[in-house]
Amino acid sequence: MKVPFLDLKAQYDGMADEIDTAIKAVIAKTAFAGGPFVEEFEKSFAEFCDCRHAVGVGSGTDALWLALLAMGVGEGDEVVTAVNTFIATAEAVNFCGARTIFVDVDESTYTMRPEAFRAAITTRTKAVIPVHLFGQTADMDPIREIAREHGLLVIEDACQAHGAAYKGAAAGSLGDAGCFSFYPGKNLGAYGEAGAVVTNDGNLATELRMLRDHGQKKKYVHSRVGWNARMDGLQGAILKVKLGRLREANEARRRSATTYRDLLGDRDDVILPCEADYARHVYHVYAVRVRDRDRVMRDLMDKEIGCGIHYPIPLHLQEPYRSDDWCPGAFPVAERCAEEFLSLPMYPELSLEQIHFVAESLGGSLDGK
Ligand SMILES: *Cc1c(COP(=O)(O)O)cnc(C)c1O
Repeated sequence: MKVPFLDLKAQYDGMADEIDTAIKAVIAKTAFAGGPFVEEFEKSFAEFCDCRHAVGVGSGTDALWLALLAMGVGEGDEVVTAVNTFIATAEAVNFCGARTIFVDVDESTYTMRPEAFRAAITTRTKAVIPVHLFGQTADMDPIREIAREHGLLVIEDACQAHGAAYKGAAAGSLGDAGCFSFYPGKNLGAYGEAGAVVTNDGNLATELRMLRDHGQKKKYVHSRVGWNARMDGLQGAILKVKLGRLREANEARRRSATTYRDLLGDRDDVILPCEADYARHVYHVYAVRVRDRDRVMRDLMDKEIGCGIHYPIPLHLQEPYRSDDWCPGAFPVAERCAEEFLSLPMYPELSLEQIHFVAESLGGSLDGK
């Protein structure tokens, strides 16, 4: 049985008519760059995140970068983030001219350890970016408390956490700004590149709207140097349709996670994802941990089961971030996890049969069969 890692075609097939209609409506109005379809999506997405404003941009990377810029993070500043994230989180900091400071993560949730964050604060620290990795929020109460004590900005990297919650509050609404990616494979995915920043701060939203559109408030009147980071009209219209199905899709992911747990939970040679007491996990990635990961992964791939590794090399060991401050061993949890992580197939349309096949195959490989 073939089990892809992700199946975007199955998702389209389930809503083809609505998507096709939305695409045609954009073409009929030729509202391709920004415009009314983006605005409609922004309204719905702000509501979904329980925030007053959403600003659509070109990607999740743009969202992080522009949020930092709009908040005045720049040259001479330090920004603290988790070391086991996708590189975009760190790149956004560097593209503002600031320095990325990495910290290690909690061994059960794989998100920033609040005490590690506290220990990394210096007089130059300006902001913290907790990353809601794999679909589960970081432990935001202590992080916010530490940030408040030190007067630091809190920017959530919610690029993997559309619809996740912390103690009942929506991911994205937990800090000064929440950054989302709508890269096609994300829980809410566009048909191309897109992203958004959500916030309750009206001034910040205004600044972001200017920054994403060449610093202009009015056409050809520029009040600061900005960039072209507008969201496409087509993406806005498609995302609006898909947002209407997101809660249901996240529920399906959660059911699949429960099934994986039912089938694999008794084994002591595989560590399954755990949902923290405070969290509603939306399983963007279903990452288990196993010994001898590369062999297990090969066994699964041989059976036509799609797998991934998120991520194989922690950022402090990546070429652009290698330095004397951070040698191998500096972040033991993230480094151990990087050796053991194996992401199993996870998407809303995954069938029970497929999950059984994946679990059996994984068990067989671990048993040496
Ligand atoms: C996907 C992702 C990003 C970047 O989003 P893009 O839309 O690909 O630019 C940033 N941070 C995390 C944690 C992500 O998963």
